[in-house]
Amino acid sequence: MTTYRPIIAGNWKMHGLEASLGEVRAMLAAIEARPPAARVAICPPATLIHRLAELVGGSGIEVGGQDCRPEVQGAFTGDIAAEMLADAGAALVILGHSERRAGYGETDALVAGKAQAALRAGLEPIVCVGETLAEREAAETLAVITRQTRDSLPQVLAGHAFAVAYEPVWAIGTGLTPTLEQIAEAHGAIRAMLVEGFGAQGRAIPILYGGSVKPSNAAEILRTAEVGGALVGGASLKAADFVPIFGAL
Ligand code: PEP
Repeated sequence: MTTYRPIIAGNWKMHGLEASLGEVRAMLAAIEARPPAARVAICPPATLIHRLAELVGGSGIEVGGQDCRPEVQGAFTGDIAAEMLADAGAALVILGHSERRAGYGETDALVAGKAQAALRAGLEPIVCVGETLAEREAAETLAVITRQTRDSLPQVLAGHAFAVAYEPVWAIGTGLTPTLEQIAEAHGAIRAMLVEGFGAQGRAIPILYGGSVKPSNAAEILRTAEVGGALVGGASLKAADFVPIFGAL
C-alpha cells in the first residue's frame, strides 16, 4: 500500500532536438484523453528544458534535468547548476545515473552533494542506485545498493520530496531485465534503508525501477512489491512507447 503517487519519468539522455517536441504534444494529448494515475515527467537534454516547460505549461507532464553540479555557479565549463535547471523550468532532476557514476567517476558523496544542491534550488531529486553485472554475479547487489542508498541521500532531504530509482546497470539499454523477484528483493532492501534513514517518511518515498522498461513489461514491473514508478530511457522518446507505459498503472 503506497501513500504517494507513482512517478513515470523519461530520461531522454543525449537525444532530442526541437522536432522531438512533437512527441511530447502527442503524449499531452493522450494524458488529456485519459489522465494517468502516475505523475509523468520528462528529463530532456538541458537545451530543451525551457522549450519543454513552455510547451507543457504546468499541465500533465513535469520537466526534469539529468544532472547538476553541487555549486550555485562558477568556472565549471559545460556544467549546469541546480538553480539553472529550476530557472529554465525544471521541477525534478535525475542524479547519480550509472552513466554518470561510471563515465564521470561520480561517488556517493558527490551525488549527495548534488542532492543537497537540488534541494537548495527547489528541485525534487531522483537519485539512482544499482549494481553492475560483475557485482550481481559476485552476490554483492544488496550490499552495493544499500551503500549507495545510504551514502547518496543526505539527511537534509528529510521532510522534502525525493525519489530513488533502482537501475541495475546491466539492464540499462540492453533489453535485459531482472526477474520480478529480483526487482522486489532490491526494492525491499532500498525501502529498508529509506526507513532506517528517514523514519516514517521512508515508507512514502517512491522507488522507481529503471532498466529496459517497455510497453510489454511495464504493467508487471509496476505491480511488483515496492515499485513506485519507472525511470524509462529509450522507450520514453516516442509517444507510441511512452504512453502505454505511463498508462499501465
Ligand atoms: C535509463 O537510462 O535510466 C534507462 C532506464 O534506460 P533504458 O530504459 O533505455 O534501459
